[in-house]
Amino acid sequence: MINVNPHFSQIKPTYLFAQIRQKTEAYLQQNPEADIIYMGIGDVTLPISNAVITAFEKAGDEMGQKESFHGYGPEQGYGFLREAIVRGEYEPLDVEIEASEIFVSDGSKCDVGNIQELFSESCRIALGNPVYPVYLDSNLMAGRTDIVYIPFTAENNFAPLPLKEHVDVIYLCSPNNPTGTVLTKSQLQAWVDYAKKEGSLILFDSAYSAFISDPEVPKSIYEIPGAREVAIEFKSFSKTAGFTGLRCAFTVVPHELKGLDGEGNVVSLNAMWNRRQCTKFNGVSYPVQRAAAAVYSPVGWREVKDQVRYYRENARMIRDGLQEMGLTVYGGEHAPYVWVKLPDGVKSFEFFDLLLDRCAIVGTPGVGFGSCGEGYFRLSAFGDTERIKMGLERMKENLRLV
Ligand SMILES: *Cc1c(COP(=O)(O)O)cnc(C)c1O
Repeated sequence: MINVNPHFSQIKPTYLFAQIRQKTEAYLQQNPEADIIYMGIGDVTLPISNAVITAFEKAGDEMGQKESFHGYGPEQGYGFLREAIVRGEYEPLDVEIEASEIFVSDGSKCDVGNIQELFSESCRIALGNPVYPVYLDSNLMAGRTDIVYIPFTAENNFAPLPLKEHVDVIYLCSPNNPTGTVLTKSQLQAWVDYAKKEGSLILFDSAYSAFISDPEVPKSIYEIPGAREVAIEFKSFSKTAGFTGLRCAFTVVPHELKGLDGEGNVVSLNAMWNRRQCTKFNGVSYPVQRAAAAVYSPVGWREVKDQVRYYRENARMIRDGLQEMGLTVYGGEHAPYVWVKLPDGVKSFEFFDLLLDRCAIVGTPGVGFGSCGEGYFRLSAFGDTERIKMGLERMKENLRLV
C-alpha cells in the first residue's frame, strides 16, 4: 500500500452535517407525516435571474457554431469579465483595482483553500472561532499546525481586536458565516494597521458583501487605506447572484503584495498566484463567464439586487420574530444568517433537538463551527418567505425558552 498524506488524520470528520441528517431522518421515522421546515440551508433557493440566464444560454449557443466557438480561455478569466468586475464591483466603491489583479475562478471555496500554496509551511495562521470550516481543514490538510484562534463572541461584539502576538496569515470573513455579523470600517482598519506593522497578510472573504446596506460597513477590504499592501480578497457570485450551481468567483491579488522566497528575494504574490493558476487551473467555462458578466448589466444588477432584498427581508423577519420571543440575536442585518444566542445553559444540540421535536424545524447548531459557537444557533434566510413565516409561528406557539 502507498503511504498517504498523514495530515488527513488531523482533520475531524464532518460530524455536523451527518449528525443533522441522522437526527432529521430519525425524527421522520417517528413522525412520517411531519412537514419539516429547513432553516439551516447554506445555499440559495431562488432561480438564476432572467438577464443572467439569457446571457448563459446565448453563450451556450455560440459554443455550437464554428464562428463563435470558444476553446480554452485565459486561465485568469476573460478580459470582458475582469473589466466588468472592476467597473461593477470596485468603481462604485471608489476603489482602484486593475483587471490584471483579478483572477476569475469556479468558486471561492477552492480559492481560499488553494491560496495557501503560496505560503511557507511554517507560517502562523489566525482563524476565527466559530469559523467557515474550509479555512481550518484546508490548512490542516497542508500540514500546518501553528494555528491561532480568534474568538468571535457576544463578549467582543463579534469584532475582536487585532492580536497581541505575531501571526503571518489572518483569515477574516465579513459579512461572517456563520455569525452573520460584520466588521465596520474602523474595526477593519485596526486589522489592516496590524498587518502592516507585523508584515502579515489578510485573506478577506466577502462572499456575502452584496447583503451590506450600510455605507459604514465595507463591501471590500480595499475601501480601507493601506489594504492593497496587506490583503487578498475573495468574492463569489454564489450568494450574490445565485451561482452556487453555475460556479463563478474571483480573487483579487494587488500588485503591491510581496513576500520573501527561500533565498530572501522579494517576490510578487500576484505573479505567484498567476503561475499557480496557469499550472493547475484551466479557466471557467465561457458561458458561465458570460453569465457572470451579465450580473453587472443594468437589468442583471436590478434583478440580482431584488433577490438579495428577498433574502434580507427573510432575515429581518427571523430577527424580529426571535426578538419578540425574548431571544437575543446577532447578525442578519447585512447577511443571510441570524446567529441566535441561546438562553444561559442551553447547548447548541439541545436546542437543535428541541426545535426539531416541538416545531419540526431544522437549523444549524453553532458548536458545529467551533467551540465558541457553543450556546449559539444559526438560522438561514435562504428559504421561502411563507415557509419561514410558518416556522416562526410554530416557534412562538411551541417554544417556551425565556
Ligand atoms: C458560500 C461561501 C463562499 C462561496 O463559495 P463558492 O465556492 O464560491 O460557492 C465563500 N465563503 C464563505 C464563507 C461562504 O459561506
